[in-house]
Amino acid sequence: MKLTFHGAAKTVTGSCVLVQVDKLKILIDCGMFQGSEEIESRNWLPFGFPPNKIDYVILTHAHLDHCGLIPRLVREGFAGEILCTEPTRDLARLILTDSAQLQEEEAAVLSKKERRRGGSPVRPLYEIEDVLVSLDRFADPVPLNKTIELAKGVTLQLRDAGHVVGAAFVHLRVTEGRKRPKRLLFSGDLGNRDKLLTPDPADPDPADIVILETTYGDRQHRSMRDSIAELRQALLLTFARGGNVLIPSFALERSQELLAALFQLYKRKELPGCQIFLDSPLAIATTKVFRRYSDYLKPEEAQQLAHSPNAFDFPALRFVRTPDESRAINAIASHAVIIAGGGMCTGGRILHHLKHQVWRSECSVVFVGYQAEGTLGRKLIHGARTVRIFGEEIAVRAQVWTINGFSAHADQSGLLRFLTQAQKPEKIFLTHGEMPSMIAFKQAVQAKLGRTAHIADWKETIEL
Ligand SMILES: [Zn+2]
Repeated sequence: MKLTFHGAAKTVTGSCVLVQVDKLKILIDCGMFQGSEEIESRNWLPFGFPPNKIDYVILTHAHLDHCGLIPRLVREGFAGEILCTEPTRDLARLILTDSAQLQEEEAAVLSKKERRRGGSPVRPLYEIEDVLVSLDRFADPVPLNKTIELAKGVTLQLRDAGHVVGAAFVHLRVTEGRKRPKRLLFSGDLGNRDKLLTPDPADPDPADIVILETTYGDRQHRSMRDSIAELRQALLLTFARGGNVLIPSFALERSQELLAALFQLYKRKELPGCQIFLDSPLAIATTKVFRRYSDYLKPEEAQQLAHSPNAFDFPALRFVRTPDESRAINAIASHAVIIAGGGMCTGGRILHHLKHQVWRSECSVVFVGYQAEGTLGRKLIHGARTVRIFGEEIAVRAQVWTINGFSAHADQSGLLRFLTQAQKPEKIFLTHGEMPSMIAFKQAVQAKLGRTAHIADWKETIEL
C-alpha cells in the first residue's frame, strides 16, 4: 500500500492524497491551490497520476481547497465515483459552479489582454460544462457512520468532522492480503469545538496511520463566548465612530456561524441598532442547504431554524442578491455590518466594499477565518498601510480585527485530542498547514504524546 501527497503538503490548500492498495486507486479530496501566484500556478500542473486510473474520489467536504480540482480531474479522464455525504454533494455543486464562473471570468479578462498583445485566447482552468459533467460522477450519498465496501478487503466509513455541515473524516480499513488489517484515518478538516451550528467532531476509532490537518497546530482559539463579546465590541466601537463593519467571510459555514452569533446578540437584546447585509449569492444559497440538512446541525439549532425569528431570519438581516443591491450599500455611511465573500479577499464583492470603506478610519474590517499567505486578507492582517484593489492604491485606515474563535478549524488541543482518541497511532503524517504551525505541532506531538510525526512533502510517496 502507498500514500502520495499531491497537495496541502507544507501548505494549507490543494488537499489531495492518493492511496494505492494494489490496483485500487483512491483520492482523498482533489482540492484547489489558493493564495499566492506561485501556489496557484500548481492548479495548472499535470496531476502526477493518470486521472482515468482513479477508482474513487472520497470528498471530505465542499470547501474549494478540497473539491476545487474535481472538474479538471473529470475533464482529464476521471470516470470513477465521487463519494461524500449528502450535504457535501449539494454544497459542492454550488461551490464548483461558482468557481467555474470565476475561472471563466478570469480567463475572459486575460484573453482580452492577450488578444490586444496579438496572442491567443486563454482557456479557463475549467468551465461550467466541466462542472455539469462532474456532477454526474457523484455516487449515491454516503451516510455518516455506515461502513461501505470499496473493493474486496477495503472498507470506508465517514464520520462527522464537525467542520462545516456534512464535513467528514475518513476511516479506511484495508484487510486484503494482510494478517492484520491496516486502519487509516484521514482527518480532512477537523472542526473547532463549541461552534454555534455544527456539532463537535465525532470520536475517531483507533487507527494505525493518521493523516492530520494542522491549520492551527500552533495556537489555541478563544472561546465562542469571548469571540461573540469581541464581535459586539467591534460593532459598538465602529458605530460610535460613525463607520461600518466589513467582514470578509467564506460562503460555506463562516457566514452562517456569524449570522448565528449576531442572532445570539439579537436574542439577548445586545445587538446594537444596525443593518446586517449578507452580500453573497453563494452564501445565501449555502444558507438554504443548512436549512435543508438541519439534521446535520446541533439539535437545538435545528429546532430553532424551524421557527421565526432564527439565525437566518431576524429583523436586522438583509440578503443581498443582485450587484445593484450590493452597490447600493456604498451609500450607507454607518451602522452597517457587511458580510461578503471572498473569505481571503482574493475576489468577490468584498473587494468593492474594501475599496469604498477601508480608507475610512471610522470603519472596521473584522477577519474571522484563515488568511493564506499571499492574499489581500493576509496583507491587511499584517498591517499593510496601503493595498491595491482593482488597480488602485488605497490607504488602509480602517481598524483591523482578527477574531479566531469563529474558526471552523480545531486548535492545537483539538488536534492533539483527535490523535489521542486514535490511540497513539504508529505513524502520523501532518498536512494542510504552513511550516511554522506544522513544526510547532510536531513538537507538541513529541512532548505530549511521545510520538514522532512526519511533515509530508509535496509529491512525497510513503510505502506502508
Ligand atoms: Zn475546510
